[in-house]
Amino acid sequence: MDLFDYADEFGPAKIIHLYEPSVGLKGILVVDNVAMGPSIGGVRIAPDVSVDECFRLARAMTFKNAAAGLPHGGGKMVIYGDPKMPKERKQQLMRAAAASLRNEESYIFGPDMGTNEECMAWVRDEIGRSVGLPRELGGIPLDEIGATGWGLLHATEAALHYLNSSLTNAKVVIQGFGSVGKHAARFLAERGAKIIAANDSRGTTFNPQGLDIAALFKLKEAGKSVADYPEGQRLERDEIVDIECDIWIPAARPDVINENNVHRLKTRLIVEGANIPITHGAEKMLFEKGVLCIPDFIANAGGVICAAMEYHGATAASASETIEEKISHNTEKLLSIVRAKNILPREAAIQMAAERINKAMSLRRWSLFSSAPHFI
Ligand code: NAD
Repeated sequence: MDLFDYADEFGPAKIIHLYEPSVGLKGILVVDNVAMGPSIGGVRIAPDVSVDECFRLARAMTFKNAAAGLPHGGGKMVIYGDPKMPKERKQQLMRAAAASLRNEESYIFGPDMGTNEECMAWVRDEIGRSVGLPRELGGIPLDEIGATGWGLLHATEAALHYLNSSLTNAKVVIQGFGSVGKHAARFLAERGAKIIAANDSRGTTFNPQGLDIAALFKLKEAGKSVADYPEGQRLERDEIVDIECDIWIPAARPDVINENNVHRLKTRLIVEGANIPITHGAEKMLFEKGVLCIPDFIANAGGVICAAMEYHGATAASASETIEEKISHNTEKLLSIVRAKNILPREAAIQMAAERINKAMSLRRWSLFSSAPHFI
């Protein structure tokens, strides 16, 4: 395939092939659109990612960062390898990748599958340009504070307001009790919602009277499944799709709701914590049924907002404040477009992001890249 087959009005500005045989480094960096500022996106270590997937992930970051109103474009990097490789090997690859991109100021490294805050510390040590750092280096531990879950709370509140409803006693179901799902559950329960079911890869727990979220945190800390919760009915993992509720939050894997199982959902509102948890076709069917779906890149932007704030030297408290402000505002704006145009929320979100990117591009001499000194 010709690399220019990817080129459209938004990018990608650069596709860089990384290769260093002395350490066995093979990787790809896609810097998609940097009209709003240097790109931020995660580094994924995986044995089987393609240029195509890297490009799609970079484009998703362009939209997510623009929709969140961050002064950053979208990028993504893939390093080929086993994500479970020994730490010394990972360090060698991360340092080599960072060194090879020392002058590529249009990309700021972030964590993704197979990389963590320690990897970001090595990158920072080499070239000083990464986010998602350990606390000791000025990082804001976003999974510990629940940055994405905090954002989901605010997206949910804005959506309920649009539906003339509220969180008090709202019945919530959470699919995936990991970094995103467990904090979303905690914040929603603190605001008066009743979390009636949750699951993880090993099973589902269900109690129509509401689950004790602190007890579920303890189970997970002890290495158990939420399905081991003694006060709940134990169900199969995927039976979570059938539980009737007011708000259904997917926070596990992509494509969990698709054309084959979407008819089983019995809810009024879906707030997408995971990335692409619902296929496009299923989102359309939900829209036609009158179920409101807040798309992933609006609802789950708390993590990247936190990372960008960290990069600009903010504290955890101010990052939380910004997440609340941005996600509430963006969800409200999105819903006003949905109401005015009667279009799918995802289409409205893309329009909103594209408008911001086009405006930023119109303010530059070159639409995609910048030749300004000290761009970052
Ligand atoms: P995680 O690994 O911490 O948690 C995932 C949870 O989902 C685990 O409890 C796991 O047991 C469970 N799970 C896995 N497969 C499942 C299945 N088929 N059904 C039900 N549960 C299942 O991951 P995370 O960081 O919470 O991320 C979850 C999703 O959110 C991913 O799609 C990720 O890309 C996306 N996301 C994460 C962040 C973040 O800040 N961590 C930000 C934006 C988007």
